[in-house]
Amino acid sequence: MTKIITSVPEAHAELSRLMDDAEHIAAFTGAGISTESGIPDFRSKDSLWKRNPPIPFDEFMSSETVRMESWRRKFTMDDSYTGAAPNVGHYALARLVDEGRMHAIITQNIDGLHEASGVAKDRIIELHGNGTYAKCLTCGVRHELSAVRKKFESSNRAPACLCGGIVKTATIAFGQAMPQDEMRRAHAATLQCDLMLSIGSSLVVYPAAGFPVLAKESGARLVIVNRDETPLDGIADLVIRAGIGEVLAPWAGRDRLN
Ligand SMILES: [Zn+2]
Repeated sequence: MTKIITSVPEAHAELSRLMDDAEHIAAFTGAGISTESGIPDFRSKDSLWKRNPPIPFDEFMSSETVRMESWRRKFTMDDSYTGAAPNVGHYALARLVDEGRMHAIITQNIDGLHEASGVAKDRIIELHGNGTYAKCLTCGVRHELSAVRKKFESSNRAPACLCGGIVKTATIAFGQAMPQDEMRRAHAATLQCDLMLSIGSSLVVYPAAGFPVLAKESGARLVIVNRDETPLDGIADLVIRAGIGEVLAPWAGRDRLN
């Protein structure tokens, strides 16, 4: 039976109780945890994303003109949240990882803010890749965005790799295959947890949203913290509809609360 809470003090009490009962906590995070850092949610109605939507993978591959447009949108979006930094929600999870209470953060986000909050890379599973750098689709070598952008702006051509391969942000575009290693790690981390905290995900994008379902099916407890209803609320043990920062603040540590 799902318990739904909208009061923040009540959320603190319930969440503490569930977390104290748990031995292995995993987090599953979505766009909502980063909106408090000023990163627009792809799904929000007046988002810049609506005018600069990401281009599906097959279209990206189809022509240089489309790739140019894709880079233009990417840099336009990046400029809209330059300097975005982790917030209380990210720091709370970082501290739980530090204390050994949380073994994995599975994220749908591509903003790199979990890493920026101090979490070791091997504790973060980026299901949809990372938008803070680029990669060659042929040889896999990493390309820094600053260099890509310089080339893009000076030559008016989509950047290519030295090997001749196509360079793309290190994200998983719509229609692109899910990264096998990350899927495997997320699966293992999900089976290991006895409590999963789904934070700021609308839980509508699959296969990612399958992990909270798998957690529940494997006997873990599931807590959903999200501003809006989600399709998985009915299978959760606890649903908290309140701001993520205020809900997670007690776990962030006083030095990081500002
Ligand atoms: Zn290459």
